[in-house]
Amino acid sequence: MRELEKIYIFDTTLRDGSQTQGVNFTLDEKIRIAESLNKLGVDYIEAGWPGANPTDTNFFNKKHNLNSSLVAFGMTKKTGRSADNDRGLSAILNSNTKSVCIVGKTWDFHVDVALNISKEENLENISETTKHFVKNKREFMFDAEHFFDGYKNNKDYALQCIRAAYDEGATWIVLCDTNGGTLPFEVEKIVSDVVKIIPGNKIGIHTHNDTENAVANTLSAINAGARQIQGTLNGLGERCGNANLVSIIPTLILKDFFKKKFKLKIEENNLNYLTECSRLLDEILNRKPNNHAAYVGSSAFSHKGGLHVSAVEKNPKTYEHINPEIVGNRRSIVVSDQSGKSNILSRLDSLKIKIDKNDPRISKLLDQVKDREFIGYSYDGADASFELLTRRLLNQVPDYLKIKKYEVRVHKNLDDIDINSEAKIHLNIDGKDIICEGTGNGPVHAIDSAIRKNISKIGKYGNYLKDLKLLDYKVRILNTGTNATTRVLIESSDNSGSIWYTIGVSPNIIEASFRALLDSIDYKLFKEKAPANI
Ligand SMILES: [Zn+2]
Repeated sequence: MRELEKIYIFDTTLRDGSQTQGVNFTLDEKIRIAESLNKLGVDYIEAGWPGANPTDTNFFNKKHNLNSSLVAFGMTKKTGRSADNDRGLSAILNSNTKSVCIVGKTWDFHVDVALNISKEENLENISETTKHFVKNKREFMFDAEHFFDGYKNNKDYALQCIRAAYDEGATWIVLCDTNGGTLPFEVEKIVSDVVKIIPGNKIGIHTHNDTENAVANTLSAINAGARQIQGTLNGLGERCGNANLVSIIPTLILKDFFKKKFKLKIEENNLNYLTECSRLLDEILNRKPNNHAAYVGSSAFSHKGGLHVSAVEKNPKTYEHINPEIVGNRRSIVVSDQSGKSNILSRLDSLKIKIDKNDPRISKLLDQVKDREFIGYSYDGADASFELLTRRLLNQVPDYLKIKKYEVRVHKNLDDIDINSEAKIHLNIDGKDIICEGTGNGPVHAIDSAIRKNISKIGKYGNYLKDLKLLDYKVRILNTGTNATTRVLIESSDNSGSIWYTIGVSPNIIEASFRALLDSIDYKLFKEKAPANI
């Protein structure tokens, strides 16, 4: 059998990814992300630009216990100064990483216009910088900025630039599609040309997603001979993002075309950490994960519609390209008006609710779901509400907070900018009447704070609800005119990191919100096995 060639994975979430609008990692966040990438098993973690800002400098000053190689980033030496006397290069050398990645110009247009130096001076900056790091025993990688545009504009010069680094001992020459405008067949052609001059196991690829082709361009480059891949988690990066490693890694490991030729440091069984790794980044960025993300999105293996579902039940291969568990994701069966009994049964199964498939309560549940969908409920995106509905029907959910009544008041003084809301909730817990009051900038906020601010008052339930967090709140108006119905979807979480979705529907927006919120609270209490209200 032929020896498998190795593909190296180079993550730049912490460097190129952090160039993104609205992204500003703290030192602790950088450490968490680096540890997560290390656990996944990438070869290189480019962690930042030492000397460029205090966070990056501090990151490199700290000791890290990682199997992945840390990489310090920087740019080629300044014109008219020796490499030894360049402050930028010293900061990178002082960070003491085994590997360094240095960006330099390879597009003559940029050399003329952006740097305003001669083409020869640029070549000298590249070769002198390479020499400097190789002499200091660093694994040297040259990020050939705008290589593809440079190649199209002045092929000879672009090739001279990468030769300048290669001839001085660079370990990797990384071809960058910095503006992200190159298409897969162009990448394949150009990389094929380059590997005639510099061996493919010295060539890396760094793409951007401006034509939605960053992943495809990366795969094309590998096909043409490149053996290092640069990208970021979830494709984080400026403008339209970088190549998404979360999509590329499983493709290389699981798809026959690549699997037969290549191996990675990441083993197949480590892929089951992929979904968690992707979600961690979203959590740190306080972003809602993309449901439709390939491999790791919550919809990536969700099935709706009776026919699909019954086929998936027979054999998941009918509508799934891989088994979701390999990448740490799971199959979800969406319940909807189109669905029959098989949908409900699979969904009960995924909730680990054991029930005989001929139990008459299943038809009753199906009727209830259909009735509720008719008035505006949709359980597609509200797992927790669906579970509560089911378990209540099966008498598995006790009564928790008994709400006797609630009031919400909204007021605004015309010469005031703020609108204030006040909520008052009358509860009964274990026979005792309790009033909880709260204020907020909106009615839902006020209801939520009435419960949250009075955790100590609500007796035995207080402790269970302390870490309940509302992450997102969505309102949709369903029909027009005076009979409009409001559907509210709430996304909640707690310290365990689990996320659940609840729904409320009513002609009144406050009542719809209240129902969704109450479901979230009930779900949390059920999940924590809180005692019944007596
Ligand atoms: Zn980039």
